[in-house]
Amino acid sequence: MPRILSGIQPSGELHLGNYLGAVKNWVELQERYESLYFVADYHAITQPYDPEQLRRRRREMAASIIAAGVDPAKATLFLQSDVPEHTELAWIFNSVTPLGELERQTQFKDKSQRQESVVAGLLTYPVLQAADILLYRADLVPVGEDQVQHLELTRVIARRWNALHGRGEEYFPEPQPLLTPTRRIMGLDGQAKMSKSLNNYIGLLETTDQIWAKLRPAATDPARQRRTDPGTPEVCNIYHLHKAFSPPATVEHVAVQCSTAGWGCIDCKKTLAESMETELVPIRARAEQFAATPNLVDDVLAAGGERCRRIARETMDEVRDRMGF
Ligand code: SF4
Repeated sequence: MPRILSGIQPSGELHLGNYLGAVKNWVELQERYESLYFVADYHAITQPYDPEQLRRRRREMAASIIAAGVDPAKATLFLQSDVPEHTELAWIFNSVTPLGELERQTQFKDKSQRQESVVAGLLTYPVLQAADILLYRADLVPVGEDQVQHLELTRVIARRWNALHGRGEEYFPEPQPLLTPTRRIMGLDGQAKMSKSLNNYIGLLETTDQIWAKLRPAATDPARQRRTDPGTPEVCNIYHLHKAFSPPATVEHVAVQCSTAGWGCIDCKKTLAESMETELVPIRARAEQFAATPNLVDDVLAAGGERCRRIARETMDEVRDRMGF
């Protein structure tokens, strides 16, 4: 079975944006691939942060991932920092990574322009990503179109290291992108991507009432000032959420009702809330189970860390040997 690897930053409980954008996809992929999923806590420290909050958020993130349907019997879930070989390999890869390639990364250019003082970790972040992937010699990496550039750099690093130390072999296989349909979920304000910092999100584990309290005032097509004004579903975030949660027949119905002013936005949102319930109720039920068995998440992470350290040690033994350590 081909091996895939994917990580997510420890931003605490999942919101619908990162659930639909990544983790829902992981749940499908675990059926077809040997799946290694990790909470990328080493990646979270290139910005100012609070250590206690980080510790809490990584655990909350892991709990959300399992509640969302990642099954520890099928996939391996671990904390990146439980496998210190990630950073060891990143240092080794620093010695073969061309500086120009790092400076050209779009994310670095964007982020560094917004900061007065730029830490080196922001520049070398893709090197750690390469180490994350190559440490496990993953065959495939699920990525959206916008992340293909980072994966290409991982392939460059694998090629360079293989050329220098591979002893004529492709010790690190060049991982291929597993292009996944990424949904860019807008926030409830309809203005920007859903995010906790903008407070325009719905948490994956929020209750029915909490969700409705947020959905009810959420932005819609501004052309629908009155109930009788027809709208354009494509410009409305509620319609896009329907596409993520409602069955195709409902999505079609929404489009017709909206463009003919057949119903009001509140009717539309009520239907969406019902569709969301269908998907989110089992997720909440799983989360409640964890609350009743507090060690479950820690046990899953401990087992995942142990398995990954084993794989990582094998890789590093080989790497050290080939590099003269
Ligand atoms: S009817 Fe639905 S899709 Fe149309 S503008 Fe209102 S909320 Fe959006």
